Amino acid sequence: MVAIDLTGRNALVLGVANHRSLSWAIAQALHQAGARVCLTYAGERLRPGVEELAAKLEGATTLELDVTHDASIAAVHDRLARDWGSLEILVHGVAFANKEDLEGRFVDTPRQGFMMALDVSAYSFLSVTRHMLPLLETNGASLVTLSYLAAERAVPSYNVMGSAKAVLEQSVRQLAWELGPKKIRVNAVSAGPVSTLAARGIHGFVGMQKHHAEKAPLQRNITKEEVGSAALFLLSDLSSGITGEVLYVDAGYNVMGA
Ligand code: NAP
Repeated sequence: MVAIDLTGRNALVLGVANHRSLSWAIAQALHQAGARVCLTYAGERLRPGVEELAAKLEGATTLELDVTHDASIAAVHDRLARDWGSLEILVHGVAFANKEDLEGRFVDTPRQGFMMALDVSAYSFLSVTRHMLPLLETNGASLVTLSYLAAERAVPSYNVMGSAKAVLEQSVRQLAWELGPKKIRVNAVSAGPVSTLAARGIHGFVGMQKHHAEKAPLQRNITKEEVGSAALFLLSDLSSGITGEVLYVDAGYNVMGA
């Protein structure tokens, strides 16, 4: 087995809400591989929980980061520039849409709800990457964001979040092209349904999980740890020749036609 050693690498991980978060599984995998980890939380309400989780990863730090505010992103950049001086790993596990926009008809999505979902769930990847660029360029870096099959298929109730994921995946390809010369790789993990805070906001999520387990070639749902190890691969040198890709971690569900 090839060991993954991320000793000496700095990792910024966005999107840890609690112990169920996919970003938490990725943070744990990065820590186990030796990376120095900084977890961010979106607001004061989440701070105690995220600090409690960070305490489980020796040497991990926490910072507030609300992706809808450029000043908040800039403050994180300034702090990491001062404390670390470089960033080799960036994990973007952030998404949000109004609950009512994930229940009704897609055609009824109001402008404000559409813009908000795309801002938090897709534009934020660009914005955070741009702000962190001076740090990412220092030694080269690997970036991973989290997507879902609704980026390219119609999925009941996923509505505007599918639109956001489509933009997110296009952004992965465009950023990969643009940042490749700077030795910055950009990829996405497209995860099958995992029970998290965000996922439970999708109307009919439990039925969706059941359907995936019945139809997927592996005949089961995936675990967040499987997302963690796939992301670890993409964030390490084992994937040094890979950029602009969407890696499915969905027990094979996406290959099915009928
Ligand atoms: P999660 O634990 O609820 O994580 C979502 C995170 O996004 C939360 O930490 C949330 O913070 C954060 N967030 C929302 N608005 C933010 C803002 N303005 N600034 C900063 N952070 C903000 O759910 P998750 O399932 O692990 O989601 C992580 C990613 O995986 C998402 O992109 C999701 O679409 C994707 N994904 C999930 C699944 C699944 O089935 N779970 C499958 C495929 C892809 P708050 O709690 O404060 O809002």
